[in-house]
This record gives sequence, structure tokens and C-alpha cells, in this order.
Amino acid sequence: MVEGLARLTLPQGDGSLRVVEGAPAGICDLCHEEYLSVETSRQIDQLLTSSPSRRQLISVWEFPRGSVRD
Ligand SMILES: [Zn+2]
Repeated sequence: MVEGLARLTLPQGDGSLRVVEGAPAGICDLCHEEYLSVETSRQIDQLLTSSPSRRQLISVWEFPRGSVRD
């Protein structure tokens, strides 16, 4: 586990996305999963009540079904 900055993508119920950049997180060396402290999670909840730093349009492509092999 290393300390780093995470970019969190938070899907909303209405299909929109919220993104938080630069959140301090523990990052797993192996799977790169990000772990937030309780305190950081609390700060993010607080942050999300303020206006976003910027807005960005996001284009989404879904991989065709049945074409994923592993
Ligand atoms: Zn891991």
C-alpha cells in the first residue's frame, strides 16, 4: 500500500458522474485499488456540497457484448 492521490469517479443515480481529483488515498501496489480514510471520505462528502471546480463533457463507449475474452 502506497500513499497517493486518487481520481474518484462517482456515478449518480440520474446517470451523471461526479469526479473528485487529487483525493489522498492509500493505493494497493498489486491491484491499484484506492482506499480512502474515513476522514477523507467525510471531506469528500463536504466537498461535493460545493460548486465543482469545472465541468467536463464525457463521451462514453460501451464495449460490444460477447466480444470480451479472457
Ligand atoms: Zn489490492
